[in-house]
Amino acid sequence: MMRVAVLGSTGSIGVSTLDVLARHPGHFEVAALAAASNHARLLEQCRSHRPRVAVLTDPVAAGRLESGLRAAGLATEVACGADALAEVAAATDVDAVMAAIVGAAGLPSTLAAARAGKRVLLANKESLVVGGELLLDAVRGGGATLIPIDSEHNAIFQCLPAGLEAGRAMRGVRRVLLTASGGPFLRSTRAELERVTPEQACAHPRWKMGRKISVDSATLMNKGLELIEACLLFGMEPAQVEVVVHPQSIVHSLVEYVDGSILAQLGNPDMRTPIAHALGWPERIASGVESLDLVAAARLDFEAPDIGRFPALRLAREAAESGGTSPTVVNAANEVAVAAFLAGTLGFSRIPEVVEAVLDRHGCEPVTGLDVVLEADSWARGYAESLLVGEARSRA
Ligand code: NAD
Ligand code: MG
Repeated sequence: MMRVAVLGSTGSIGVSTLDVLARHPGHFEVAALAAASNHARLLEQCRSHRPRVAVLTDPVAAGRLESGLRAAGLATEVACGADALAEVAAATDVDAVMAAIVGAAGLPSTLAAARAGKRVLLANKESLVVGGELLLDAVRGGGATLIPIDSEHNAIFQCLPAGLEAGRAMRGVRRVLLTASGGPFLRSTRAELERVTPEQACAHPRWKMGRKISVDSATLMNKGLELIEACLLFGMEPAQVEVVVHPQSIVHSLVEYVDGSILAQLGNPDMRTPIAHALGWPERIASGVESLDLVAAARLDFEAPDIGRFPALRLAREAAESGGTSPTVVNAANEVAVAAFLAGTLGFSRIPEVVEAVLDRHGCEPVTGLDVVLEADSWARGYAESLLVGEARSRA
């Protein structure tokens, strides 16, 4: 029996994870659930999955959850606050942690799971982009197993030979090809991009996801963060990671070997496939995903990304090349800009411009410890906020 903690259980990945777990009651047990504030959904999840503990970071929501659980006669304990996330991730009654919180807020719990030697199912790419080598050191030091959930990286993991060590290049691999759907604005002009609304940006043509990653997919920053993620996970140089736009989202990514062979992983675009892969690994377990109908799909198209219209990809590549604190800064500035866009106070095309302004001002430093990363993260957030305030004032 594998005991699983699902962090970010009320989100898109969390819900898909619980769907897969519920298909295998004899093999998995839900030990813990955690989310930010959605107490109603978390209560429903506790009813179905009976975890030992449920965490909400919002204290008022945690209080409501507690009353709901007691009224329902459920024994699940309630914990509250950000520290409780890391405690749950490292708890002795947990074997595997689904890291599916969104943003750098997931870093402390992902680090805790790694240090405690858990099987870490990493959906929360931002925690790897921000934590970088520190997170990989924690994985190696803690004896943890890191399995990527991001569909592209999970595809690459599946196409690599067995025995991958987090962050170490594998012999015989020439490069990896990351596929990108291109997002909802693949064919939009610059003028159209200026007028994009949050609703349009969150209506992804292939994947149903949380709002932040949907916006990242629309700006292509998601692919940029994934490029950094691929370099870290697979020990690749940025030049060894090529991004290819593939609008059908059927080929999830590819690995090229030195002999010219290319291996790809294909399937319907449904996150339950990588989730089931990572939960069952090295075995295969059912995910509920339907068979891919290649004849119905009929064609697979590939094209180069347009860096002119989607500069976020260039910025992320530059950050991957400079290394140090640059990826942390790109991520932090992007989180601030995306939140402002979703709140309706920043234009869509301004998102990469804000990120670029913050990256330009940043003095990149080598990452010698977590304090350096946290300092860079908070500086970048503060500077990005100051740009937004200045912008709002000049508009008024
Ligand atoms: P989502 O917005 O649907 O869900 C986020 C979850 O995290 C929710 O349960 C929310 O309550 C919780 N949360 C948010 N902030 C929190 C905080 N500060 N503390 C504790 N919990 C917090 O997001 P999602 O689409 O499920 O994405 C989750 C992560 O997985 C992201 O890092 C995303 O990039 C990654 N990912 C998602 C997909 C996808 O298909 N949705 C694919 C690949 C990678
Ligand atoms: Mg992805």
